[in-house]
Amino acid sequence: MPIISSIKNKLLLLQILTAVFSIFLCGSLLTVSYYRMFGQSEQQNLETIAQVMSNNVQVPFSFGEAYINEAEKTLKAFQSDTSVLSAYVLYQNGAVFAAFHKDTTRYSLPRTMPDSSKTLYSYIKNDTLHTFCYFTVDSIHGYFYIQKKSAQNKVLLNLVATTLIVVLISLVLGIVSALFLQQAISTPISSLIDTMQNVAKQQDYATRVTESGDIELRTLSQVFNDMLLQVEKRDASLQEIKHQLEERVEERTKELQDKTQALQLSNNELQQFAYIASHDMQEPLRIIGSFSQILAKRYQNTLDNEMKEYILFIVDAVGRMQTLIKDLLSFSRVGTAKMQVKPIVLSNLLLKCTSNLRFAIEECNAQINYADTLPVINADETKTLQLFQNLLSNAIKFRKDTIAPIINISVQEEPTEWLFTISDNGIGIEKDYSEKIFMIFQRLSTAYSGTGIGLAICKKVVELHGGRIWFESEKDKGSTFYFTYKKDF
Ligand code: ADP
Repeated sequence: MPIISSIKNKLLLLQILTAVFSIFLCGSLLTVSYYRMFGQSEQQNLETIAQVMSNNVQVPFSFGEAYINEAEKTLKAFQSDTSVLSAYVLYQNGAVFAAFHKDTTRYSLPRTMPDSSKTLYSYIKNDTLHTFCYFTVDSIHGYFYIQKKSAQNKVLLNLVATTLIVVLISLVLGIVSALFLQQAISTPISSLIDTMQNVAKQQDYATRVTESGDIELRTLSQVFNDMLLQVEKRDASLQEIKHQLEERVEERTKELQDKTQALQLSNNELQQFAYIASHDMQEPLRIIGSFSQILAKRYQNTLDNEMKEYILFIVDAVGRMQTLIKDLLSFSRVGTAKMQVKPIVLSNLLLKCTSNLRFAIEECNAQINYADTLPVINADETKTLQLFQNLLSNAIKFRKDTIAPIINISVQEEPTEWLFTISDNGIGIEKDYSEKIFMIFQRLSTAYSGTGIGLAICKKVVELHGGRIWFESEKDKGSTFYFTYKKDF
């Protein structure tokens, strides 16, 4: 991992760089200003010396060449000053009156004399300071000229070196303090972060952080450990509750399974009972019906009209009872008969269905429309035939008096199921009956023949195929029945 990949290291690096840059900037400014100040003071000093010395050499200069030695003696005072390279007493035209120079190789005289309007004139050239002091004695004009090695560059070098040393020391100090911080703060914090990450990943709340480092870090570790302890306790109680809940759910599921089993058993018994009762009731009913008809035939001359009407009532009631029992039988058969699922060619099934209903269709001139090619589905053929037959016969039965029924059948493939639609242009159903009509014996009008079992059978068949059934309708505007079959059957 690169050393500056973490924010912490980046901040440290930034701090060190800022400190080093500030020190460097301060050092540079100080160096420049001190360098200039030093130059000025060096020049002033030399000018003062030049003034003093020019006063001293003025007397021998005024006495002429016989006193050159006197003047040179005075100039020799510079012998002890190592920085003075040479000193001269010059005539106004630049000719030498007296001279002093330490090193002949560095001895040089100015080519032109400075303007005599200024008493003092200085300049710096090749690291050497040159100063002229103009004087007049007894109407004779002259110059005192001194060359001194400037210490300005030496001072500059010293200052730069000092600044660099300070920068270097602060850099080293910065790195050392960063390492110290790393050891004293970052390492305990990193260990805290590692533990936190482990706790988050493995959810092991029994882990504890080692309490190390300064007081604040130790407090932080303590607080984190306390928090872990609390979470551990809470986790344990949660596990306990979860365990209890699981046990309870298991108990309830078992109870539910037992109840479902008991319900299934009693349901089977009930269906069996309904089947046997309906089956066995058919025989006495048939006897009542046929004997009533025999009675009516045999005594048609002796029975009065009222009695004949009573017998007709009996025959009619027996007929209705027989239909009811027949329908009940088919209802209970739907539940008891085993599902026999196989691929069904839907168009063949609809052909069979319309053929079974041909009398009803012909009677009212009903028009039944469906696509030429319909899918092949996996289903129980007998039950599906009954389902279509019930829905189609209802669409025909509940037609309007004024128009012939038009019935449209369609099938749509959905991701997991088949969606069937059967719409008619019949009398329609009021919205309030949406749930009710799928219940057994529920009829909306007695003006039409029927037992109220047809749609209950449809619902059962659809549910046995893992689907649902519903309708959309408005009174006098026809009805559309929808049902679905699960595809993977
Ligand atoms: P039944 O047809 O023997 O009366 P069903 O269970 O088949 O019994 O139908 C229940 C009731 O739903 C019917 O009595 C009728 O009122 C209403 N119904 C069913 N299908 C239609 C339809 N296509 N149009 C109008 N009403 C309908």
